[in-house]
Amino acid sequence: MFRPHIIAIDGPAGSGKTTLAYRLARKLGYFYLDTGEMYRAVTWAALHNQVDVADEKAVTDLANQVDIDVRSPSVIDGRVNDVWVDGQDVTREIRRPEIEASVSVVAAYPGVRQAMTLKQRQIGQRKRVVMAGRDIGTVIFPDAELKIYLDASVEERAMRRFKENQAQGETLSYEEILAAMRRRDAIDSTRKVAPLLPAEDAVRINSDGLTSEEVFHRVLALFDR
Ligand code: C5P
Repeated sequence: MFRPHIIAIDGPAGSGKTTLAYRLARKLGYFYLDTGEMYRAVTWAALHNQVDVADEKAVTDLANQVDIDVRSPSVIDGRVNDVWVDGQDVTREIRRPEIEASVSVVAAYPGVRQAMTLKQRQIGQRKRVVMAGRDIGTVIFPDAELKIYLDASVEERAMRRFKENQAQGETLSYEEILAAMRRRDAIDSTRKVAPLLPAEDAVRINSDGLTSEEVFHRVLALFDR
């Protein structure tokens, strides 16, 4: 069986990369890291400390100081891991709409990316990992032996997020989620540093009309070599 050290999974919001990465990590016994949680954690710290997210220098300073810890789940409530910021469990809060509204602005700052890149590479050097994000195959680990780029239409991705939100008791409409996702896609794809982009050697999968189970099995087939 093919056993890459790093499995890079990139793609836009709602493409199913987090679910895929988590399932693969469990199946293969790898460490799982959702790098989006790290950018969300910095955004949470900015909002929590009343730092203006438009202030690049202040947000970058914060990203260099903040203590972000991603660890095994401490609560059984559907979470796949805990995210702690400066000693506080923010796992649920970082999923809130106000974080989503600002995270792409924060993630576009080169200094913020530099700080997160360092942490992500350290983790990947220490253990076998399935890492999900936007730039794992292009920037963080361009030499990863397996790269997957998962995509889906923005309408389908927004519908998935809408259903997830409803299950969590959120009240945002489908149209609001679709508009927010389009905004986030635009910022993530056009930023100067590490834009959302498939690596040339990535296996590309469009998950429109596929269940997460079907995507998982399609990817598992890549290991039979
Ligand atoms: O994957 P998720 O939707 O949680 O990511 C939240 C945001 O974090 C993305 O919209 C993007 O702006 C940023 N991000 C990034 N690079 C990554 C992972 C996430 O810029 N590797």
